[in-house]
Amino acid sequence: MSGNPAPDGNRRVLVIDDNTAIHDDFRKILSPSRLSEAALDEFETMLFGQSEQRSADAAFELDFATQGEQGVEMVRQARVTQRPYAVAFVDVRMPPGMDGIDTTARIWQADPDIQIVICTAYSDHTWEQILKKLGRSDRLVVLKKPFDNIEVLQLADTLTQRWQSSDVMQRHLQMLQQVIADRAAATQFERRAQDTQARLRAGMADELRTGMRAGQVGVHYQPLVEVATRRAVGLEALVRWQHPTQGFIAPSLFIPLAEESDLILELGEFVLRTASEQIKTWERAGVPVVPLAVNISALQLQRGGFADSVRRVLRETGMQPEQLALEITESALMENMKERVAELQSLRADGVGIEIDDFGTGYSSLSYLKQLPIDTVKIDRSFIHNIDSNPVDAAIVSAIFAMAQTMRLRVVAEGVETQGQLQVLGRYGCAYAQGYYFSKPLRAEDCRKLLIELAARPAFTETLRMALVKEPQGGSRLVAVGNRKP
Ligand code: C2E
Ligand code: MG
Ligand code: MG
Repeated sequence: MSGNPAPDGNRRVLVIDDNTAIHDDFRKILSPSRLSEAALDEFETMLFGQSEQRSADAAFELDFATQGEQGVEMVRQARVTQRPYAVAFVDVRMPPGMDGIDTTARIWQADPDIQIVICTAYSDHTWEQILKKLGRSDRLVVLKKPFDNIEVLQLADTLTQRWQSSDVMQRHLQMLQQVIADRAAATQFERRAQDTQARLRAGMADELRTGMRAGQVGVHYQPLVEVATRRAVGLEALVRWQHPTQGFIAPSLFIPLAEESDLILELGEFVLRTASEQIKTWERAGVPVVPLAVNISALQLQRGGFADSVRRVLRETGMQPEQLALEITESALMENMKERVAELQSLRADGVGIEIDDFGTGYSSLSYLKQLPIDTVKIDRSFIHNIDSNPVDAAIVSAIFAMAQTMRLRVVAEGVETQGQLQVLGRYGCAYAQGYYFSKPLRAEDCRKLLIELAARPAFTETLRMALVKEPQGGSRLVAVGNRKP
């Protein structure tokens, strides 16, 4: 019961009557010595048509009080000691103390679950009057005196059972309420976690915005290599965020964040402008520059005026359109195809290269993409990774090369890390590759050194794998490593 875990099979009965002779009657009717299981079964069969399986503790546990106050105190004690009564038989007239109605009201204050049988010899209270005084009838029965033994037995038996089923129900209800409360708490927790995440994200987006202005965001450059000559024939601009306390944060983490707001537009233009200015700075300084590829987010394309914004940067930095290529992922192209194809076409007509990035991850066919103004496909590095060990990946890559050749598209293999991968790619006629095997993305200064080093080398066919060597006096120097041809 609520706040009162009662023992199962509670058959505790309290009799409150100022007449001790009545106590004896109850004892005779209900006490274990007088009550055989057979008698109870017979009684139940008579009442309900069949007898339920009776437990061994079918006998009633009887207690007696002669006055209302005493009875109330016993009920309170029983409840406190977690041995509550299931039923109380309460006499109506108990001079000199409280009458049975007041006693019942006080009993229910002490234990609202107890079943009450009001025993009355007189018709001094009507049912309506009793109800009005007590305010409830759900656990109340009136028994007229003098009572029949079988009536007492019947009431004691059915009311103790009713107490038990109500107890079980209440326990189930409590369990249910607990489950609901737990679930509500879990939902609250989840909601709070989501809020925190959203706040964190919002906070991180703000940090990224200020970080961009504070010079924490920069651009690294990874060379694109012509496999046959090992020349660097291009550079890919890759954005980098050096957070003041969290250190380096990968673009795969903060690009999606920037894409949740207009920040990606600012970031995209920042990378395009920074990289373009860098190329022009090198060019003016006599560094032998190569074309630049810049990654473009789907959101940049979605906004109208994309082509104009690219042209503006070209104009302001002095970059030639032929020096620039835009890398757009397959999915970004598919989403924006109809709306933006004209803009891409006009840029293409200007001489800007249009490349499909991460090809193979977007479920599009090359023939479908051929309707777009593209000139290069970059095969996603996930296909390259196991190309020398997984025949399925090898077959896919080989098919892409075969199709691309018939469509006169340039194909770049991304993420080339080993000589083994390069050998397989060589068999498919792979002309261009990018990856750690040749060089990781480099800081601008290291990239400048690489471009100069390569221009100075007499034979590019030897190798283009470069490594940074720390100088004893500080700083670093780029050196060629390895001499084998793939
Ligand atoms: P992506 O455009 O496909 O760039 C290639 C990614 O592969 C780069 O990761 C590069 O560091 C990495 N990579 C190059 N060679 C290898 C290799 O041999 N092995 C392995 N395991 N990885 C290699 P990064 O710089 O972390 O960039 C991840 C992605 O973030 C880029 O994929 C691109 O989708 C996006 N991203 C980078 N910079 C920008 C940007 O300025 N704007 C936009 N919109 N997206 C950018
Ligand atoms: Mg890319
Ligand atoms: Mg890629």
